Amino acid sequence: MHTLDEWVRYGDEIRRPLMIADELEKSSRVAIIGAGLSGLTIAYRIAKRRPDIEIELHEKTERVGGVISTWKKGDWICDIAVNAVRPHPAFWRLVEDLDISDKFSQSNTNAKSRWIFLRGKQVRLSAKSILRIGPIKLISGISKSRMGGKSVREIIPHALISDAMTLGIVNDLSNNVDADFLMPNLTKFGENPPIKWSKIKKMMKSTYPIFMPTKGSVASFSGGMQTLIDSLYEELEELENVKVIFGSNFEDATEASKKLGLEKHSIIWAAPPKVGKNNFTELKIYAVGYDSEQCQDIPVGYGTLIPNQSISISGILHESDVHSTNRAPPNHRLFRIMSPNSRGASEVEVKEDLKKILCKHDPVLFECIGERRIPKYPPGYMGSLETGEAEYTRSGWFFSGVSVTHVVAEAERIAERF
Ligand SMILES: Cc1cc2nc3c(=O)[nH]c(=O)nc-3n(C[C@H](O)[C@H](O)[C@H](O)COP(=O)(O)OP(=O)(O)OC[C@H]3O[C@@H](n4cnc5c(N)ncnc54)[C@H](O)[C@@H]3O)c2cc1C
Repeated sequence: MHTLDEWVRYGDEIRRPLMIADELEKSSRVAIIGAGLSGLTIAYRIAKRRPDIEIELHEKTERVGGVISTWKKGDWICDIAVNAVRPHPAFWRLVEDLDISDKFSQSNTNAKSRWIFLRGKQVRLSAKSILRIGPIKLISGISKSRMGGKSVREIIPHALISDAMTLGIVNDLSNNVDADFLMPNLTKFGENPPIKWSKIKKMMKSTYPIFMPTKGSVASFSGGMQTLIDSLYEELEELENVKVIFGSNFEDATEASKKLGLEKHSIIWAAPPKVGKNNFTELKIYAVGYDSEQCQDIPVGYGTLIPNQSISISGILHESDVHSTNRAPPNHRLFRIMSPNSRGASEVEVKEDLKKILCKHDPVLFECIGERRIPKYPPGYMGSLETGEAEYTRSGWFFSGVSVTHVVAEAERIAERF
């Protein structure tokens, strides 16, 4: 059982299992495999806490950051993966400790509205959306979800609304997504807090360093998420007990332990597990810019989710509306478009759909800025994660939760073992 202090520090993250090797803290040398946000943050947190421990961070490619990177062209700035962070004190603590608070700010509070494209119309998500789902069906779905192992579709019994939600978060249909993994607080997965959740939430609010996020807001970095990655990497380069090694490609933790001459409990696997192609979904990301005058009919907001599979686009994010720092040249707006590979659409089809659903004018910028894979989290996934007596430590979004707040909170919790 966790203490009240731990609940206040991590909130609902406590519900998520940690896969930490029993004897990790006995290591005098630790190897972290994978230098995405997870590996970088764990290396930083352990190195700061225990300067006497030697840390090797092994990365397969020639760059750090994993799926995170920021595309730039002139004044246009667009993140390829995560663009903004939902409020969690663990993330705020990381920003403060890295001393990059001056580059971190709350999103534009006028850009909170989110829409779903339902049957050819843009519908704003609001309390009224619950009426579309049917409040009784929703309550029954939520109480059923507490049996564990259910899909999101079973909890939110409105196919289009639940698909829109999961497509927006994990690029997959709601039937295929584990409700416990996506929303453990709703399904009450794992341990429950020692006092009322509303009281814990109130106590957590007082622990935010830097600034107190307003309800419904997110936060981001000027210069995009690459700002965070650059800062973490710069810090690691300064630390004497950390070595970053590029071009390492270990098959698994057993091979890493053998080749590095380390006990298996000293390995932290922060890379994807050994899984096949079918364990991921893929999507293309486009940066699309318009002259402000030509797109003045598009309301200011966060974005639109599009569950309809016959449309090439699953999500439109209003990048230049959301962030409080500039993402587009003066008198222009930037949108980020997600096109799942499962919809098999060409660039021409994406352009045509944009004309139909976003803006009839030609964009002044249209560029495919990247392609990314997102892990699949099928129903029952969270319950299947191995806890207790782990031979080696596992971390990152395959295990901790899909968003950066999970990854960062998990890194702090792992480092606390030392
Ligand atoms: C399109 C997209 C949008 C997203 N949007 C959001 C968002 O809005 N909000 C949010 O909170 N989160 C979002 N995320 C999720 C967020 O980006 C991830 O949670 C986070 O970046 C995962 O970091 P990670 O270190 O766990 O994994 P990764 O970034 O996958 O890092 C793993 C690292 O391991 C390396 N590696 C792989 N195999 C090996 C090996 N054998 N040996 C050594 N190294 C290896 C890889 O090269 C990589 O550098 C989004 C993700 C995507 C793709």
